[in-house]
Amino acid sequence: MSASRHQRRPIRILPPQVAARIAAGEVIERPASVVKELVENALDAGATRIRIDVRGAGLHEIRVSDDGCGIPPDELPLAVQRHATSKLPEDDLNRIETLGFRGEALPSIAAVAELTIASAASEGALGRRLVLRDGRVVGDEAVAHPPGTTVTVSRLFENVPARLASLRNERAEAVDIVRTVQRLALAAPHVRFSLYVDGRAALQTTGSGSFRTALLEIYGAAIVEALREIERFEVRDAEIVGLITIPDLTRADRNHLHVIVNGRWTQPRTLLARLEEAYRPYLPRGRHPIAVVVVRTPPQLVDVNVHPAKLEVRLRHERDIARALAERVQTVLARTPKTLSLQLRPRSEDPLLRAVSEPSAMYEPEPDAPIVTPAFPPLRLIGHGNDGLIVLEGPDGLYLVDQHRAHERILAERLLAQYRDRRDAPVLLPEPVIIDVRPAHVDRFQRWFSQLASLGFRCEPFGPRSFLLRAVPELPGLVGGTSLPDHLGEFGELAPALLDLAGEVDDANDADWLERFVIQLACRTAVRRRTVLARHAQRALVQALGETAAPAVCPHGSPIVLRLERQLLARQFRW
Ligand code: ADP
Ligand code: MG
Repeated sequence: MSASRHQRRPIRILPPQVAARIAAGEVIERPASVVKELVENALDAGATRIRIDVRGAGLHEIRVSDDGCGIPPDELPLAVQRHATSKLPEDDLNRIETLGFRGEALPSIAAVAELTIASAASEGALGRRLVLRDGRVVGDEAVAHPPGTTVTVSRLFENVPARLASLRNERAEAVDIVRTVQRLALAAPHVRFSLYVDGRAALQTTGSGSFRTALLEIYGAAIVEALREIERFEVRDAEIVGLITIPDLTRADRNHLHVIVNGRWTQPRTLLARLEEAYRPYLPRGRHPIAVVVVRTPPQLVDVNVHPAKLEVRLRHERDIARALAERVQTVLARTPKTLSLQLRPRSEDPLLRAVSEPSAMYEPEPDAPIVTPAFPPLRLIGHGNDGLIVLEGPDGLYLVDQHRAHERILAERLLAQYRDRRDAPVLLPEPVIIDVRPAHVDRFQRWFSQLASLGFRCEPFGPRSFLLRAVPELPGLVGGTSLPDHLGEFGELAPALLDLAGEVDDANDADWLERFVIQLACRTAVRRRTVLARHAQRALVQALGETAAPAVCPHGSPIVLRLERQLLARQFRW
């Protein structure tokens, strides 16, 4: 190796054009970044309408025009200079209320493309137009322009061949642009957006101001039935509302989780992770929901200056917000029975169909009163099918309840409530149950049982390798005074299940032993599917299920209740 091979050159400051091109690389990564920056400027200018035209995936031309406040002619040359902005009047980076603030977008675009900006600040005022090539002004004239601004960008990346080569195919870039505009439109539901890609309308919103309407405009009316609202709540100075889809409607990728913080579309990692976690038990592997979470919080609690393209923000108290949100999402999901319905859902407001679907008290003699619970609409018990299914009729279709899973859910919630609240004294068993333990397991069993005491299981040694189970928590349908008939489930399974579970738990201190224990004990002792239930037992089971917090889905994510939508039946029967 020869040292002379490396010849040191003097340090110098780069010419401004080169420096600008380097800086631009961070802000303007691809055509969609240009669209994003220009639309954000339009939004910051208070536009009520924004029109975007894109040709050749944005490489040929991107044009964004708005009816915002415009730029007075004497300030226009400043707008295209680096670090020139009207958005930090107090130079205070801690209270940013606009989407832009760095004064970098226009000069960055001008460094990697040809940029034309035309603007007028008020009705009747003369406008001005600048043309920039390679960052330099090459055209400057007075023009007539309606109030607002039009920016046209062409020959994008022509002077950065490496960037041009690294772009994916045109289709992918165009998809990126559409997605970008969708996000911006969702974050600004009060603004009318129109996006044209190669002359074809790709998105149109009405600017209604409602997030729900914006979602429908973006995803189509078919999602309306799957949408559920997360009612407004507050956590640590943040105000949150949300719209989420139930598992009837899913997507193959996670691009449809939208978090909007003070009007900015963003992806706070913790919040998204918690949201996905809340959905996990309800969604098949690889499927994702559609959701919008809108967070409003004082600007001091958000740091938007952490990502070159401002794609990330740092949200103070994000963990607390995420936890509270996840709880609410779970509550919504746990209460929603899975629906079997038509793939295509004609939103039928046909009064005839409605009339048919409303149970008519007049013509139907009602042998039993409907079962009324917080979780379901009033349900009329029809009967009991094979496979342990209880069949009921509701105003919106037929409900099928899996009796085993229903009982499982009731037991599991009861056990967890007992653990949490220690509300009820254990129930003494009329006769203690003897549990015989293998000699090698005696120690472990004893240790484990002292933990189980916190759940209400009372046990005492009985000879060298036996224990007596004397008292248990209230177990609806097994032991204890509840509305479910005793011995509905498999009481005889209680002792062997405890024994087996003790064998499975190596270290009873590990974090989720309790949950595993509860789930498995509930599964073993819940009524079997082949057990034929008396009518009053069916009723009691559905009643108790409807009073649980999560009646729709079992802990493994399988349905407890299925709803056969009336429209599905009508279509399938060709009524
Ligand atoms: P920033 O948005 O960070 O301020 P930009 O380079 O994007 O930086 O824009 C520079 C300035 O030009 C803005 O601060 C704003 O005053 C003005 N400007 C840019 N686009 C528009 C627009 N569409 N309408 C009104 N003013 C605009
Ligand atoms: Mg900007």
